[in-house]
Amino acid sequence: MADYKKTLLMPNTSFEMRGNLKTKDPLFSAFQEENNIYGKLSTREGEDFILHDGPPYANGNLHVGHALNKILKDIIVRDEALKGKKIDWKLGWDTHGLPIENEVQKMGIKFSEVGKEEYLRACYKYAYKQVEKQQKQFKAFAILTDYEQKYLTLKSDFEAGEIEVFNTMFNKGLIYQDLKPVYWSWSSETALADAEIEYKDVESHSIYVPFKHESGINFLIWTTTPWTLNANVAVALGERIKYALVEADGQQYVVAEELISKIAESTSKEIKFIEEINPTDYVGSILTNPLTGKESKVVYGHHVTTEGGTGLVHIAGGHGLDDYMIVKQNNLDLFIVMDDKGHMINSGKYDGMFYLKASDQIVEDMNAENKLFFNSKFTHSAPMDWRTKKPVVYRATKQWFVSFDNLKDGLMKEIDNVNWLPSWGADRLKKMTESREDWCISRQRLWGVPIPIIYDAAGEPIKSEELQSNITELFREKGLLGWHAAEIKDILPASIQFEEGMRKETDILDVWFDSGSSHQSVLKGKQADLYLEGNDQFRGWFNSSLTTSYVVNDRAPYKNVITHGFVVDGNGNKMSKSIGNVIDPLTITEQYGADILRLWVANSDYTDNVKVSDDIIAQTANDYRKIRNTIRFILGNISDYNGQDVEKDVFSKSVIDSIDNSWTKVRNSYDSRNFVQAVKEVMLQITSGSIGIYLEYSKDVIYVKGVDSQERRATQATLKHALDFILYSLAPVMPVTIDEAYKTMNEGTIFGNVYPNISEGDNASWEQFASIRTAVLKEFEPLKEEKIVKKTSELEVDITLPAEHMYWSEVLKDALVVAKVNVTEGDFNVNVKKFDGTKCERCWRFFSTEDMTEDICNSCHDVVKEF
Ligand SMILES: [Zn+2]
Repeated sequence: MADYKKTLLMPNTSFEMRGNLKTKDPLFSAFQEENNIYGKLSTREGEDFILHDGPPYANGNLHVGHALNKILKDIIVRDEALKGKKIDWKLGWDTHGLPIENEVQKMGIKFSEVGKEEYLRACYKYAYKQVEKQQKQFKAFAILTDYEQKYLTLKSDFEAGEIEVFNTMFNKGLIYQDLKPVYWSWSSETALADAEIEYKDVESHSIYVPFKHESGINFLIWTTTPWTLNANVAVALGERIKYALVEADGQQYVVAEELISKIAESTSKEIKFIEEINPTDYVGSILTNPLTGKESKVVYGHHVTTEGGTGLVHIAGGHGLDDYMIVKQNNLDLFIVMDDKGHMINSGKYDGMFYLKASDQIVEDMNAENKLFFNSKFTHSAPMDWRTKKPVVYRATKQWFVSFDNLKDGLMKEIDNVNWLPSWGADRLKKMTESREDWCISRQRLWGVPIPIIYDAAGEPIKSEELQSNITELFREKGLLGWHAAEIKDILPASIQFEEGMRKETDILDVWFDSGSSHQSVLKGKQADLYLEGNDQFRGWFNSSLTTSYVVNDRAPYKNVITHGFVVDGNGNKMSKSIGNVIDPLTITEQYGADILRLWVANSDYTDNVKVSDDIIAQTANDYRKIRNTIRFILGNISDYNGQDVEKDVFSKSVIDSIDNSWTKVRNSYDSRNFVQAVKEVMLQITSGSIGIYLEYSKDVIYVKGVDSQERRATQATLKHALDFILYSLAPVMPVTIDEAYKTMNEGTIFGNVYPNISEGDNASWEQFASIRTAVLKEFEPLKEEKIVKKTSELEVDITLPAEHMYWSEVLKDALVVAKVNVTEGDFNVNVKKFDGTKCERCWRFFSTEDMTEDICNSCHDVVKEF
């Protein structure tokens, strides 16, 4: 028997079977950088696409949430680049704030020892180092950006832009200074924004305290913060609540009528109803604070409910927001009884004591003097400093605020002008905006942008646009160190005389004001096409950016906002070091390569929380191998194809139509940012769709037909179309692999191209074929099980086709990969049997004797003659 192997046209490609991405990732990054790919795409002619990067905080290693965020952005940027857009995507970093100060202090650098300048320089140094580290880690994700063009909130030009935002808001009267209770973290010695608060269960005192009325009856309040009794100035009643006079322990008390049984239950006391009372008879009268002996006024309070306690609320304006409002409304004194570090002040014998210790002491003392109705401990959810995890308190300090009174309506309208994905984003931000308290923007720290205010000798902020412009330029030239070093007289414009007693504001701006000003500092007032961040940013960056942009530019800083969920483990649990379920994105890129991590991102429904586990990544690597093998198969089989257009038969035409149909779906999925759908469509095509089936068919043609035969060239042309579909559909997701494949055939990079024009693609013809094929395979299965035949190539098939499907007749034998097809016209029907014939030793298909020349078929004989 002759050896026909050497006459077969076997696949030939340099595209390796194994991805070996670990070595290819750095080459890809180097190629991008050396060839300035981002630079070319960001400066070419074309419609702008601006994706404004929300700056991650420059501290620590990247986690898988960072990977999800940046890769989603990069998929979109690459997709928009392939649409021909002029892309603008600069990575940013949030670099001021407490965590960096904490790290610097941990290194033994103390402000009190080294002075302001050296301390701040240490902060700069630390921040730059963190940025450098994270930047290196981001590179492992194969991102299309220019790292040289990154923005940092610590840069002096960024700070100058931020100062401009502050000044505009200040000049519009939206920024004011006031003594006001804010969340105060004694552990960080600073005021905190809402976004910096988290909740945790703590155990507190629960005390019922009688305030004696001049008539001898008692007003019973309940509190969990005994130390605030030192700041008490009033007891508040609810206007719509019914109150009763009750008797217990031989004393009379006023409590909310509907709470009598609850109080009896939680204090285990017998409480006897005496009579209903009219609260208006008592409002304005004076009680005695049992702890301090000071006067306490009976008032109405908007916040009093009967949800718990006694229905009477003790009011300490310096240590509660509602309390503060009530104190203001009633012209009462505002007492502050705690210092920066959490120690008591203005509290007599408790002065200097840490507030929690003071609470213990107060309960002990009042118990000893029989001044408590009842006391116990109870556990409840309380606000914590998100960084130190220590409790925070409300404490009135002099702070700078952004007032929302005149902004809310406009902000609500702007939220409706933005496209939100998922769409519930609009409602979420609206609810947050509606209930928003004024934004406290001052912090009592050093590492941040100083509030650009100079006070006159009388202690009033100087209002002067000339001065503002001097300060802005000072920041632009010399940054915050310049501000700290400058003498006031050197900052003042000629129109303002220097006077002794003038001073600079020492507070710095909230870091959310930093990042919230990035539209000014980075986009220079241009509106971004897209902001894309985790859904925790409704409280943070989406919110602060909207506020400042609306004031400065009269509109939202973004046209579209996409939010994603958090990354959780395979069981949906939060990742934590202590549980040991943390997946490190850098481990994935080191073990598998960036494309696997990116394919996981694309395959994840980011609108909800996203799962990741070793199993999920292994499954993703499997999908990757299927894609890679398909690409390799096609590359191998078209290596001698020069792109010529050839007349195709109905089978190849139907495959091309089906591919175009999928391609349109993929493009629409990218447009709606549904990457799961895009990848799914490609996977379906290459596994069980027209491409997968065509690849099986194509082997018989490519390997055995004459090298330049029309049949073979037409098949190669169809395969090339399938390859283009796969490459362009997956380029945004798997740039390293796709560019590697692209480079085996072309110079340059696929990202130098734009998407090819494709027809919409009608799938009807392909579906007709698929249904014929399914029917044949169904008949084939029992013959295979009975071991009558092994492969479809041994089958003879009788097919009855309706008239409108008869155009398939000619191609079915090859398309179905069977030995013989007998087609008649009629109602659709399929019958199969074993074909009675001989196997061609070259192409391994079966033929009748008259179609054979010796041991090979006539067709093969024609090809072999050429050798
Ligand atoms: Zn043959």
